[in-house]
Amino acid sequence: MRRYSSALEALQQVFGYDSFRGFQKEVVETVVSGEDALVLMPTGGGKSLCYQIPALLRDGVAIVVSPLIALMHDQVDALEELGVRAAYLNSTLLPEEAVEVRNQVRRGEIDLLYVSPERLLMSSMLSFLKELRISLFAIDEAHCVSIWGHDFRPEYSKLSILKETFPQVPRIALTATADQKTREEIVEKLLLNPRKFIASFDRPNIFYRIVDKHNVKEQVAHFIRTEHPGECGVVYCLARSTCEDVCDFLQERGVRAVFYHAGLTAEERAARLALFQREDDVVMVATIAFGMGIDKPNVRFVAHVDMPKSIEGYFQETGRAGRDGLPSDAWMAYGLRDVVSQRRFIEQSDADELYKQLSTQKLDAMLGLAEACDCRRVRLLAYFGEKSEPCGKCDNCVNPPKIWDATLAAKKLISCIWRIQQKSGTSFGAKHVIDVLVGKETERVLSCGHNALSTWGIGKDLNDQQWRAVLRQLIARHVVWVDAERHNVLRLGQLANNLLRGEIQVEVRREVIDQPEGKSHRAQ
Ligand code: ADP
Ligand code: ZN
Repeated sequence: MRRYSSALEALQQVFGYDSFRGFQKEVVETVVSGEDALVLMPTGGGKSLCYQIPALLRDGVAIVVSPLIALMHDQVDALEELGVRAAYLNSTLLPEEAVEVRNQVRRGEIDLLYVSPERLLMSSMLSFLKELRISLFAIDEAHCVSIWGHDFRPEYSKLSILKETFPQVPRIALTATADQKTREEIVEKLLLNPRKFIASFDRPNIFYRIVDKHNVKEQVAHFIRTEHPGECGVVYCLARSTCEDVCDFLQERGVRAVFYHAGLTAEERAARLALFQREDDVVMVATIAFGMGIDKPNVRFVAHVDMPKSIEGYFQETGRAGRDGLPSDAWMAYGLRDVVSQRRFIEQSDADELYKQLSTQKLDAMLGLAEACDCRRVRLLAYFGEKSEPCGKCDNCVNPPKIWDATLAAKKLISCIWRIQQKSGTSFGAKHVIDVLVGKETERVLSCGHNALSTWGIGKDLNDQQWRAVLRQLIARHVVWVDAERHNVLRLGQLANNLLRGEIQVEVRREVIDQPEGKSHRAQ
């Protein structure tokens, strides 16, 4: 085996880089000296070297736990290309191939061995590891251990067996995203007194923008055609059907779009991923199934046609843009339906109460970002515990939104929900309540006699879209809630009284209020 006198020498000779980036050097030194490390660095920050170099400097084989087989193959190929002795053990190997890899490892011919968590936890694998001299354990995508995280994998949380079985081997846990709670859980499950390395999560070349959703297919097509024609990007959708629908629409508009979701076969997915990686003008319309392992530097935009359920998710997905450091866009359309459907997901999930509470907190933080009238980046970074100044490179900085005081409108809305409930002994959904407010005489309004309510037509001064913006705020702030068990009817929360008493102010962005009439009646 080649020997390197220092981490810098290995960096230069093996990887061909001049110098370390950020705190790579400190991390490498920590692990080389046998201590545990927690590394939080945004995607593209250079996490891999943090364990690859120690693996070359310490005696024995480094065991790298990685959740994605495709990613593992890429890493091993890249290392072999550089002359590093790397291999993997996972379900894609034939039994005889796996035996050969094990033999190579036993003979000390491998410096980095990549394994999937499932494989690692097999008792045969654990006894194999006990035979070896292990230089370190690297646990990539470490946030997967956390039930609070956005990508919990049960087998990951069993990896605590590593520190119990091999307490003397240094461990390094790496992730691109982890809020405070997730961090704590990573440390608790995987590490022993680690040194913590937490990089700035700022992605200065990404311009953040969140727009009001009215006709999202038109909006996203317009965004791509005017700002990123012929460029590579990702459009995230919540549902598979939306993916296909948006993809069709974009194709009709001349965009080279392909869709990707878990309903495709593994071969189809691999082919589409390969196309995306290879070509520079493909727009991938995808669910979050399209994610980990994309390593394309020139993704010029990430668009969300549906709001993600947490800021971590949003950050991770938008972070796939602009890895090359060139200006890139994170664009999202957000509307009433996002709030309603995300609240409903939580309510209807089978998870326990605590999990629901946590999901609600995460969603509220995301809603706070979507509704924000101040710097988006300041809010994003604050979520990861970082203080910053207004960035000058987000929609709100460049175009400070004018604010409209919607408190009176909110009171009207609440009274209307209340009157309807009084009159009919039951609640109704958003569309009906807004119909009553603006004084429409729909069949339903007439048959329920809601045109006789004192609140019928008291909201004529605003249009549908504007009312939806007010209602969105009220739902986001728990003044009104959506009863998912009963056809999404609107119910008043306890805070409704506070609002009626004037203890809560409601503010809506002016451009929503000023929207031209023509757009306002389009379905969301
Ligand atoms: P992460 O795992 O954090 O997303 P990677 O380890 O894949 O990031 O690194 C991202 C890119 O940055 C890779 O192309 C890598 O080769 C490059 N890189 C990492 N460290 C350095 C460095 N010290 N100097 C130059 N390039 C680096
Ligand atoms: Zn800003």
